[in-house]
Amino acid sequence: MKVFWKSLRLKYIFICIFITFGISCLIGITPISIDECKCDANGTSNHYGSHRIMNNKSRKSKHRLAILVPFRDRFEELLIFAPHMQKFLAKQDLDYHIFILHQIDRYRFNRASLINVGFLEVKKDFDYIAMHDVDLLPMNNELLYNYPEKGPFHVSSPELHPRYHYPTFVGGILLVNRGHFTLVNGMSNKYWGWGLEDDEFYVRLKEAGLKVTRPQNVSTGTQNTFKHIHDRSHRKRDMTKCFNQREVTRKRDRQTGLNNVSYKLTGTIKMTIADTALTVLNISLMCDKSITPWCECDKMDGPTEVKQKERKRSESM
Ligand code: UDP
Ligand code: MN
Repeated sequence: MKVFWKSLRLKYIFICIFITFGISCLIGITPISIDECKCDANGTSNHYGSHRIMNNKSRKSKHRLAILVPFRDRFEELLIFAPHMQKFLAKQDLDYHIFILHQIDRYRFNRASLINVGFLEVKKDFDYIAMHDVDLLPMNNELLYNYPEKGPFHVSSPELHPRYHYPTFVGGILLVNRGHFTLVNGMSNKYWGWGLEDDEFYVRLKEAGLKVTRPQNVSTGTQNTFKHIHDRSHRKRDMTKCFNQREVTRKRDRQTGLNNVSYKLTGTIKMTIADTALTVLNISLMCDKSITPWCECDKMDGPTEVKQKERKRSESM
């Protein structure tokens, strides 16, 4: 009996050693980690999720579009903007992603610097940008957001924009490819507060010999091509001018741009608004007060009279 138990125990020990050896061998030939594929349908790296509509031929646009939306304190507008853009762009064969460039510092709003930062943060993954106001909604499906190969494409042309009609206007919605935006050193960083940064950008484009094109033969006009969801009594434009801001911002800036925008990216938040995926970049801009002291206009600075006049003018528009 004793001999029987002894041989049974030996058998078990032998089987155990055999199983352990087998398992060790299996672990040995299995790769240590299985990398999760972060690839899109093309097999290319896809850092940010993007919307892509595949048509029957499953054709994919070659170029990726980053929609850059300068933003602060316009949440109501964003709630309308995001789902609207998704619905509007779903009709076009585009590979795009929306970035909300959220200015979180306490300086005056700086649309151009935010666009510079947005560009720097996405340029690795995207081939062209749309500088896009959050409150300007394209309504006509004839407005195309295709890759602007030859030069910037101004979607919100002065012939179609509800408010701005001068021929050199390039604000609102402007598509620019990566090469051209780099070529002109992006936008000036001197424009704190409302206005003129887009006009300065037009001069950069012109000096670089880039021709701005615009939608042609559109069936709608200034009243029905875009919806400008801007409540001017609630969203007052910051038209204050202090120090020598007025004088400096009327001139072409050769000192600042993409190469020297100063900022900290304090957070990247992926979110969805009514099923529309977007990425919020929390941007803290820095201001060199020896160059642009007007990034903070003290209430005592600047002629009050001028401020009041300008405010009146803007409110009557
Ligand atoms: N903007 C913002 N917060 C501000 C000021 C401006 O988010 O305090 C952004 C927003 O995208 C807006 C764009 O900058 O659509 C242009 O500003 P605004 O609408 O005041 O200019 P408009 O084109 O109506 O003169
Ligand atoms: Mn507006």
